[in-house]
Amino acid sequence: MGKLTGFKEFNRKNFKRRSVSERIQDWKEIYFPWNENEAKEQASRCMDCGVPFCNNGCPLGNLIPDWNDLVYSGDWKRAIDQLHATNNFPEFTGRICPAPCEAACTLSINDDPVTIEYIEKTIVERAFSEGWIKPEPPNVRTDKRIAVVGSGPAGLAAAQQLNRAGHKVTVFERDSRIGGLLTFGIPDFKLEKEIVERRVNILKEEGINFKVNVNVGKDYSSEDLVNNFDAVCLAGGSTIPRNLDIEGRNLDGIHYAMEYLKQQNDLNQNNKLKISNRIQATDKNVVILGGGDTGADCLGTAHRQGALSITQLELMESPPENRSINNPWPEWPLIMRTSSAHEEGGNREYSVLTKKLTGSNGKVKELHAVKIKFEKDKSGNINLIEAPNSNFTIKADLVLLAMGFLHPQKEGLIDNLKVTLDNKGNVLTGNNMMSSKEKIFACGDMHHGQSLVVRAIASGRDCARNIDIWLMGTSNLPKVRGFARSN
Ligand SMILES: Cc1cc2nc3c(=O)[nH]c(=O)nc-3n(C[C@H](O)[C@H](O)[C@H](O)COP(=O)(O)OP(=O)(O)OC[C@H]3O[C@@H](n4cnc5c(N)ncnc54)[C@H](O)[C@@H]3O)c2cc1C
Repeated sequence: MGKLTGFKEFNRKNFKRRSVSERIQDWKEIYFPWNENEAKEQASRCMDCGVPFCNNGCPLGNLIPDWNDLVYSGDWKRAIDQLHATNNFPEFTGRICPAPCEAACTLSINDDPVTIEYIEKTIVERAFSEGWIKPEPPNVRTDKRIAVVGSGPAGLAAAQQLNRAGHKVTVFERDSRIGGLLTFGIPDFKLEKEIVERRVNILKEEGINFKVNVNVGKDYSSEDLVNNFDAVCLAGGSTIPRNLDIEGRNLDGIHYAMEYLKQQNDLNQNNKLKISNRIQATDKNVVILGGGDTGADCLGTAHRQGALSITQLELMESPPENRSINNPWPEWPLIMRTSSAHEEGGNREYSVLTKKLTGSNGKVKELHAVKIKFEKDKSGNINLIEAPNSNFTIKADLVLLAMGFLHPQKEGLIDNLKVTLDNKGNVLTGNNMMSSKEKIFACGDMHHGQSLVVRAIASGRDCARNIDIWLMGTSNLPKVRGFARSN
């Protein structure tokens, strides 16, 4: 702990954001960096607690008090080494993590938590600008060949760790670009794609072989996958979205959020791209169903496309502004969250059940809904009750379904491999992350269900270590100390 009184002297300071009127004109990142002094002041607020709850709150087990101290003392080189000791890609988590570490920070019991995420971003960007982050190919190669299916954060983390252990790693990706949801789900205003490419280029220089436009199970058979590699790491994500099976669902103008977000991400990479069935919010009344991160990403995208109006509807009740008594620190706080996209406008409604969609000439025009509440009955079951006389109708020219993801795609790879699934439809594994089929391991959202980038990276690292141990009998890859698995 560099400065004993830092947390008393300095208040939490967030990154400044570009003005709303400016930022909705483009797709660029919205934050301004701190200067060195601001970073040091913020790092000095860390109390280096005897029991660092932040470290425990992070699925990666990031060594947060250590790098806060190093930033305070200006030792940026050692700070990036400490950061990389547990996290392959701090430039992703430093931008888009909801920061469970900050929710667990001891200061947040009665003050604002340390700005851990922004400090993380500042360290990694300083390291890139100093040229400290370079490819680290292994000194010695083993004769083991490993296939990683899927190039999202889980697959990339697994691939980098396995390559560092000396194995020959091939990553298969069915999309034309590497990165999974980092690349084609999360919008540029949260994570510019140059940031993903910068890291992928390092992985390539380290010797990882990337094969894009290969849908394993279709373009490359599951038999070849099993026969041509010594181990397989499944990291295909959780891609099947929750549907809304109501009257009017088949009208034109109703789309899954990912169809919408992927188009805009593809266009941002290549504005000459010709897209058939373009989904665009320009001059439309947009309704987003689902109040989570994916919904907020649709909101920010619709603002930038120039929507006429945007309404985000959520089935659940509005969360409280502050922690409730049965949701104490250091648990993840179930409170109202306002993302940068919400700051930019739009209307948010909670406790709303969509009843049907109507339109004309085959196109959606209105959404019909009712206000609801959840009530416990005598046997303790929670029931959804429609509030009397609360039906309403809103204009809807574009409806985006952002209600979460159910499980990985079974058709193709998973069906062909015949691996056992858990009761939610995710790939079931044993304690060593190996599926019901020998040599086939699983990690990321495909294993634990839809979650967060930080958890996907942790899961990929954990899986790599397990594969290494299974192949070699032992491993020098680090253990993952945080909570990365579901089973
Ligand atoms: C719109 C959206 C916004 C989000 N925002 C955030 C956020 O701000 N912060 C956060 O922490 N988390 C966020 N998440 C969640 C986060 O993106 C995921 O938890 C994370 O990307 C999961 O990583 P993964 O590697 O397991 O899978 P994915 O990122 O889904 O990657 C899986 C990859 O596997 C490929 N693949 C699948 N099957 C095959 C096959 N048969 N052959 C070849 N390739 C295949 C897919 O094309 C894909 O590229 C968001 C999710 C969405 C949908």
